[in-house]
Amino acid sequence: MGLSIARALSKKGIEVYLYEQSTIPNPKGSSCDDHRLIRYPYGNQSGYMLMVREAYAAWKSVWDDIGSIHYAQTGTLVTSQTGTGWAKDSLEALTEAAIPFNRLNESQLRARIPLLELKGVKLAYYLESGGVLFARRILASLKDYLLKKQVTIQELTKIRSIDSEHQRLHTESGDSFAFEHLIITAGPWTKDLIPGISVTPSQQTVYYLDVPEQDLPTWQQAPMLLDIDPGSGFYLVPPVAGLGLKLGDHRFTLQGHPDLPTQTRHPTPETRHADGHAHLTDSEAINLRYPIAYPKTCFYTVANNEEFLYKQEQNIHILTGFSGHGFKFGPVIGDRFAEVLTGGLEGAVFSKWLGGK
Ligand SMILES: Cc1cc2nc3c(=O)[nH]c(=O)nc-3n(C[C@H](O)[C@H](O)[C@H](O)COP(=O)(O)OP(=O)(O)OC[C@H]3O[C@@H](n4cnc5c(N)ncnc54)[C@H](O)[C@@H]3O)c2cc1C
Repeated sequence: MGLSIARALSKKGIEVYLYEQSTIPNPKGSSCDDHRLIRYPYGNQSGYMLMVREAYAAWKSVWDDIGSIHYAQTGTLVTSQTGTGWAKDSLEALTEAAIPFNRLNESQLRARIPLLELKGVKLAYYLESGGVLFARRILASLKDYLLKKQVTIQELTKIRSIDSEHQRLHTESGDSFAFEHLIITAGPWTKDLIPGISVTPSQQTVYYLDVPEQDLPTWQQAPMLLDIDPGSGFYLVPPVAGLGLKLGDHRFTLQGHPDLPTQTRHPTPETRHADGHAHLTDSEAINLRYPIAYPKTCFYTVANNEEFLYKQEQNIHILTGFSGHGFKFGPVIGDRFAEVLTGGLEGAVFSKWLGGK
């Protein structure tokens, strides 16, 4: 979010200073992993479903700026064991918005994802659209782009406190900087800077799996898979562009903090069960028995109803609560926010849009 906002503001000729406590990409940040998904199915949050169209246009402009395309279209497969809830809500919203998809019967489903044993599926459909954004590569490319555009990036600079009265930032190492506008996009650290804000860091674990050589070509053709009903709550990312096959547990833990010691971020075999791997690989929903190549822990910043938040007080702006689904919208949020800061869009309108309304 910070990189995207810096890009959008600098394109409007605004002088931007970006402060990052770590280096970019920060491996502990929410945005830093091999992949993040972009897809239209969005349950009953149809505002976000419609934002996906704008998000695609904004990514196109990013690819033009950075000179490469860090994206692979995989298609989107949705399954549900109940045939209700998130999958059905998504299907209805897609129908209403005339976003194309195809219902799948059992054999069509097996043909789409032949190496995965899916159990008791009541509803399955497939969209040609949707794919994988190569997150880590995007962050690195955006940083290079901003440096070329003369944006000042100060890494290893942790903001400790904000003096709103005198419009100054204070860093952990004792420096202080004046600001005209301050934009806070601190991900799961937001509460450390703004204790009163109603978001909760949520430690989530994803599992990169060891796929046997002979299975790889089949998986490389597979779509992303979403099974987001509360009982199952997982997603699968196919091994595209030389990256791994990833299984993610989407159920919120609403616990932890990214600065906790390493052993918590990389679960031991004993804690994997609790962290969801058993739930994912031998559950009611699927049977996928590849060994774990490595797990990765990452943090959602969960807001009420998973709706993104924009808070503004005078010239301090906070964007947070991206609740495990914000990455795909980074560039479009950057562009819209730049309109707010330059007077082209009212803050209240932006806030409503950002909240998926
Ligand atoms: C496992 C997982 C899977 C996800 N899957 C998807 C997906 O498929 N699709 C999707 O759209 N979204 C997905 N998301 C959500 C998405 O990644 C996040 O919504 C998004 O990355 C949030 O970006 P951010 O810029 O708000 O936070 P971050 O990427 O965490 O950035 C915040 C930055 O601020 C810096 N910072 C914090 N405090 C300070 C300070 N005091 N001083 C200086 N710097 C500071 C941090 O070091 C960090 O670099 C997923 C998230 C996770 C964890």
